[in-house]
Amino acid sequence: MNRLLIIGPPGAGKGTQATKISEELSIPAISTGDIFRANIKNQTELGREAKEYIDAGNLVPDSVTNRMVRDRLAQDDAARGFLLDGYPRNTAQVEELDSILTDLDQKIDAVLLLTADNEELVQRLLGRAADQGRSDDTEEVIRHRLDVYAEETEPIVDLYEARGIVTRVDGLGTIDEVTERLLSAVR
Ligand code: ADP
Repeated sequence: MNRLLIIGPPGAGKGTQATKISEELSIPAISTGDIFRANIKNQTELGREAKEYIDAGNLVPDSVTNRMVRDRLAQDDAARGFLLDGYPRNTAQVEELDSILTDLDQKIDAVLLLTADNEELVQRLLGRAADQGRSDDTEEVIRHRLDVYAEETEPIVDLYEARGIVTRVDGLGTIDEVTERLLSAVR
């Protein structure tokens, strides 16, 4: 299995786990949040388009995000597999991803769903805010991002459940314990 999605609420540890799993499986980890942040830092046009949405904890418009993901998945290093982190995040993006993969003659093998309860998530994100100073890690924006996840992203899990490709993994525990759980689901 080498075409994977990792889905989970903000703070569940997707980014950390995506990096470890992609190394283990020798596939690129593609994080839409990281791509946006790099573009904001480098003051590109894409960064300018995304910044106000990210800082408010809202989704960047699909037109912007979809184009970015289509371009990224067409790059050579993604031809033999990838782990997508942070996309799709709503039902329209699920449809777009289906269309992108159909055009590339590919399909998703597995969806890893990383779970954790809301108060744990808020505490982790507030801790990260203190260390890393991400502009969208204030308590108010964190709570809003959790609401956006519940309203827009959680419903897409059902779409993938219907395809029989979802594995739920408990995100509580040490980083290595969680990595082992995820790897045993895809090996
Ligand atoms: P987290 O999951 O901790 O909120 P991410 O780094 O995945 O962090 O995303 C940060 C922000 O980037 C999101 O709140 C959103 O504004 C934007 N973003 C990332 N991925 C998408 C996407 N697929 N669609 C729209 N916006 C996105």
